[in-house]
Amino acid sequence: MTRPYNFGAGPAVLPEAILQTAQDELFDWHGHGMSILEISHRNKDFMAMMEKAESDLRELMSIPNNYKVLFLLSSARQQFAQVPLNILGDKTRADYIDTGIWSAMALGEAERYCQPNCAASSQAGNYTSIPARDTWELADDSAYCYFTSNETINGVEFHEPPDVGNLPLVADMTSNILSKPIDVSRYGLIFAGAQKNIAPAGMTIVIIRDDLLDRAHPMTPSTLNYKMIAEKDSLLYTNSTMPVYMAGLMFEWVKSQGGLEVMAKQNAQKAQSLYAAIDASDFYINPVDAACRSVMNVPFLLADEAKLPDFLAKADEAGLKALKGHRYVGGLRASLYNAMPQAGVDALIAFMADFEKHHG
Ligand SMILES: *Cc1c(COP(=O)(O)O)cnc(C)c1O
Repeated sequence: MTRPYNFGAGPAVLPEAILQTAQDELFDWHGHGMSILEISHRNKDFMAMMEKAESDLRELMSIPNNYKVLFLLSSARQQFAQVPLNILGDKTRADYIDTGIWSAMALGEAERYCQPNCAASSQAGNYTSIPARDTWELADDSAYCYFTSNETINGVEFHEPPDVGNLPLVADMTSNILSKPIDVSRYGLIFAGAQKNIAPAGMTIVIIRDDLLDRAHPMTPSTLNYKMIAEKDSLLYTNSTMPVYMAGLMFEWVKSQGGLEVMAKQNAQKAQSLYAAIDASDFYINPVDAACRSVMNVPFLLADEAKLPDFLAKADEAGLKALKGHRYVGGLRASLYNAMPQAGVDALIAFMADFEKHHG
């Protein structure tokens, strides 16, 4: 059986090799005669597996020792509240950089907890660019500066983290974590929902600098308190064994592929080939400023929108799945996470050329 190419933004494609391992191990995980779905989160082999997953992630991302890694039973959006609850401390302001739908949503949620300062926004330009750093107006007494390193819906990516001096930098890396090497020491807090580039849905990873662990609001529920979770090695509550297990397999897979340098090179190549095909044609349009186009999520439009349903139906028949754009922006979107091979992108590009020939 040949599997179709899944271009969905999340839950997203996983490497075939790890699906195969999960299938092989499902009935009898590591000689326990039970599956990973049935085993206790306090089983010593499960805990050892979770520790290995953490140490593999630390190795892959070169995470310094003064950062904690948390595996949370959480959506990514839960962090829109959990971040301010935990790290505002005695401050009432926080800076937000509004570069797309996810950062706008995070800013909206933060209004429940503080007075977020929208220090820069590209909303007026329909979120197709990133405001130049020297135009940002950071607040005087801000607890942190929040940004979305890759806007999954709008297809806008920061290729470097912004320089905000000593202000703790908070990044929503849900859709580009593990896509390239990053310097973790530039950040105060990184979070990423697993269902884009790591594992199935049901887990969010938080990487937090130690000095930010002592600032939680007293009303913060224990189960949302980063420090209390860290003290229990992410086992303050029954963690979800399956996503943790799948993430561990994914980290091993990324290591076996050569690590983040190799991922970055492959991802750049995939994105470059697709953007080149879009730009070479008047039939397809990507409106994002070339300087901040996303390597992971490529939204594009048909010049003639009326052809969209036909494009989607024929692509689906050709085994190119989940290309429909997010309902907020319409059009098409191809997500090119680590597990999407160049062959999938090549198949999409060939399909696009063929569709244009017959409908252009
Ligand atoms: C998908 C996504 C989210 C939301 O994830 P949920 O787990 O559904 O809450 C938040 N931020 C970014 C950047 C995303 O891509």
